[in-house]
Amino acid sequence: MSSSFKVQVSKDYLVFASAHFITFRGHQCETLHGHNYRVGVAVEGAVDSETLFVLDFSVLKQITRRLVDEIDHKVLLPKLNPKLGYREDGNRLAVDYFGEPTYVFPRADCALLPIQNSTAEMLAQYLGTRVRDELIQGGYRHLTLLEVEVEENYGQSATYREVLALDGVEAGAARASASAAPTRPV
Ligand SMILES: [Zn+2]
Repeated sequence: MSSSFKVQVSKDYLVFASAHFITFRGHQCETLHGHNYRVGVAVEGAVDSETLFVLDFSVLKQITRRLVDEIDHKVLLPKLNPKLGYREDGNRLAVDYFGEPTYVFPRADCALLPIQNSTAEMLAQYLGTRVRDELIQGGYRHLTLLEVEVEENYGQSATYREVLALDGVEAGAARASASAAPTRPV
């Protein structure tokens, strides 16, 4: 019988208050507005035979807090959106929509993210891939699933889910080694 556990964190300080606007199909674009976003992160995997946890909660909290702080109080701009153009002018960042000058922001107040649109889905994926990379760097290779939820309003959220094979081998072999003992950070 195979079994696994899921651990998740969603704390008051895993919140970011940021501005954004979304481009819709065709030539429609939202006006600039803000949300108090909330982030939840979950991972699945086997429990360590000695500590009996999947992953120390503090590891997930620290990683997520750091990533959330990077984009807190920023204007979230999707660098890869083909409808938007960006021009840096000294300390300012000008944003064009279909070639039309639309916004100018202080450059330091902007977070240019490697996404195509600042939807809750894409923000969740962005944070998810960052969390995954941090887990790999931290050596937590026994995890099998990662979920990141981004809530932009109460009861309105998107979740990114990624099956992990962090030991760098094909999925089947990764499952076979999923019970390898996780290490606890000192
Ligand atoms: Zn919005």
